[in-house]
Amino acid sequence: MDSRQFDLAIVGAGLNGSLLALAAGEAGLSTALIDRVPLKSLTEAGFDGRTTAIAYSSQRLFAALGVWNDVAGEAEPIRDIRISDAGHDGRASPLHLHFDHREAALDARDPAPMGWIVENRFLRTALLRRLADCPQVELVAPDEVIETSRTADHAELTLKSGRRLSARLVASAEGRFGSMREEAGIGAQSWSYGQIAIVLVARHERPHRGVAQEKFLPSGPFAILPMTDGPIRDGRAGEHRSSIVWTERTKLAHRLLELDDARFQAEFARRFGDHLGRVEAVGPRWSYPLSLVHAHRYIDTRLVLVGDAAHGIHPIAGQGYNLGVRDIAALVEVLVDAKRLGLDIGAADTLERYVQWRRTDNFTMVAATDVLTWLFSNDIKPLRLARDLGMAAVNRVPPLRRFFVRHAMGLVGDLPKLIRGERP
Ligand SMILES: Cc1cc2nc3c(=O)[nH]c(=O)nc-3n(C[C@H](O)[C@H](O)[C@H](O)COP(=O)(O)OP(=O)(O)OC[C@H]3O[C@@H](n4cnc5c(N)ncnc54)[C@H](O)[C@@H]3O)c2cc1C
Repeated sequence: MDSRQFDLAIVGAGLNGSLLALAAGEAGLSTALIDRVPLKSLTEAGFDGRTTAIAYSSQRLFAALGVWNDVAGEAEPIRDIRISDAGHDGRASPLHLHFDHREAALDARDPAPMGWIVENRFLRTALLRRLADCPQVELVAPDEVIETSRTADHAELTLKSGRRLSARLVASAEGRFGSMREEAGIGAQSWSYGQIAIVLVARHERPHRGVAQEKFLPSGPFAILPMTDGPIRDGRAGEHRSSIVWTERTKLAHRLLELDDARFQAEFARRFGDHLGRVEAVGPRWSYPLSLVHAHRYIDTRLVLVGDAAHGIHPIAGQGYNLGVRDIAALVEVLVDAKRLGLDIGAADTLERYVQWRRTDNFTMVAATDVLTWLFSNDIKPLRLARDLGMAAVNRVPPLRRFFVRHAMGLVGDLPKLIRGERP
């Protein structure tokens, strides 16, 4: 057994676990961050081909922790969002919903973007770089938790390497396939959507002008997310790029993924449409099976669930990680407050504050994304007509549009200090 007792032992160094470790370490909590894979592999080009839409409020947390400076150059602002149905030819319906960042601006003279699109590998690199310089955090990887014992006064983790760690609190940031939730006897609502997200990068002739597009094709949502232009080569401007999240039913997705380049390109270009001129799928094709998991409880004796370990949602609204960021901000504030008052950070009443703070926001987003996914992943004519009319109706009511934009920016509810850009 290590002689040192950590305040917090975090299992999982994904986007949530590594952010939690940094926020906790920066706030003075002694923290161990454990992952079964070597941390360097998390940032390699072949590990994660996704981008993340970082909401405005999440960006404030990244800035408060000093991470944003490392990411800003790779982050493309989302200025507008355009949502519409589209036919088999990829052509968007004229009945659409358009969100403009200026509508929900806190400062009308200098309206902030609704969010930013960042490649996951850059987020991971920036987080791990900052963690390496954070004396309060010990990185324990590659290693794996094989046994956990949690009692009224502390928790012990036995690792595959034979090392045993003691902590006041264990945080499972194991993602949606983690084992600690089930081992703790915490059930969950969970189902598969029978869909796969095909993720890739598109190169197109005309600039996207910061517009994120979501088209609801007959088989599911097709998102075109604005990326930074590619690197300047031989004095020529970088190519215009977007990140694509293309949702298809599982069987068809497998068939598409197996197509040769020319046939895949034809299928892709048809769905993308011609609004940005010539378009080409470049680089590898990635695939992510889509499901929902929402834990019935977020806490147990000296255990707390964060990020996808607590709630994994459909990427239809690009909000899964943003929920995790808000979990982290709330949890760290609750833990720091308890520590300052000389209270036990792993005690049930400390953890209950976290649950009270996060439950409603998480529940609302889980329910909203689930309803949206069922509503927009089908081609039933009357339903299509109803949702087209619904979108066009919302589009005509500015206060409703503002309401949705402020939700997407993460500006609604009782915001923790880090989300307001302050240190806890
Ligand atoms: C296609 C797609 C697009 C998305 N786009 C967006 C978006 O635009 N905006 C947004 O907000 N969200 C988005 N999301 C959601 C976002 O990607 C996830 O919420 C986030 O990546 C989850 O991170 P995590 O750290 O909770 O889990 P994970 O990434 O699953 O990380 C879990 C880590 O835990 C480790 N681990 C697990 N068990 C153990 C153990 N016992 N011992 C040691 N290590 C362990 C694993 O090795 C892994 O590194 C998207 C998701 C998908 C699928």
